[in-house]
Amino acid sequence: MSTDTAYLAANWAQVRQRVDEACREAGRDPAAVDILPVSKTFGPELIRAAVGLGLHRFGENKVQEIREKAPPLADCGLAWVMIGHLQTNKTKDVARLASEVQSLDRLELAEALDRRLQHEGRAIDVLVQVKTSSEPSKYGLSPEQLGGFLDTLRGYDTLRVRGLMTLAAHSTDPAEVRGCFRLLRELRDRAIAQGHDIPRLSMGMSGDFPLAIAEGATEVRIGTAIFGSRSHPDAYYWPESPRKA
Ligand SMILES: *Cc1c(COP(=O)(O)O)cnc(C)c1O
Repeated sequence: MSTDTAYLAANWAQVRQRVDEACREAGRDPAAVDILPVSKTFGPELIRAAVGLGLHRFGENKVQEIREKAPPLADCGLAWVMIGHLQTNKTKDVARLASEVQSLDRLELAEALDRRLQHEGRAIDVLVQVKTSSEPSKYGLSPEQLGGFLDTLRGYDTLRVRGLMTLAAHSTDPAEVRGCFRLLRELRDRAIAQGHDIPRLSMGMSGDFPLAIAEGATEVRIGTAIFGSRSHPDAYYWPESPRKA
């Protein structure tokens, strides 16, 4: 076993165990919570080591990184999941390479993606990103806009809307963080009651996933706890964000 593989195997086992524990504490079935490994900033070699552990779905924050990593890993049959802010002029590569977009946050983006996907003859799963905290800079639809947006998305055959995604407030107060996750769950439940088939809730990261699981996350997005700390500060991924490295 290479050092990379041993390191990842240990981290992965620990994360899976902590997720399972959080499920038990919340009275939930551990099989109901997926882990999306977030490989942003890490290169194809480390990702290949993760593939050796049986992982095949990876979250990336920037289209550029998917474009760079997909070719050298083409033999692995990976599913690339876009979780970061997406500019409309970058949708071409996403339509070509991504299996899923979790950061759909505006109509202009849905239109651009749909156009590109039609061109590729593909349909992908999407999650709608909702802004659940009052922090000024976070991307996402406001809770008030969600219902109308979901109704509009029914018109796009290439976008299979499967659920909601959020980033919680960057706060040391667990009640505030948990409140963001609770809001996303309530919005999902309301949308389901209105006839939208959107069971998935992508919420929780390395630092806050137990709270997200307690509030019903069906998927947690874990970077640091699996791959280690990143050389870029978080501000690189959340421009204008108050988050610090
Ligand atoms: C980087 C990132 C994550 C994972 O963050 P960690 O704290 O490293 O687990 C989750 N979601 C999004 C949108 C990200 O950009």
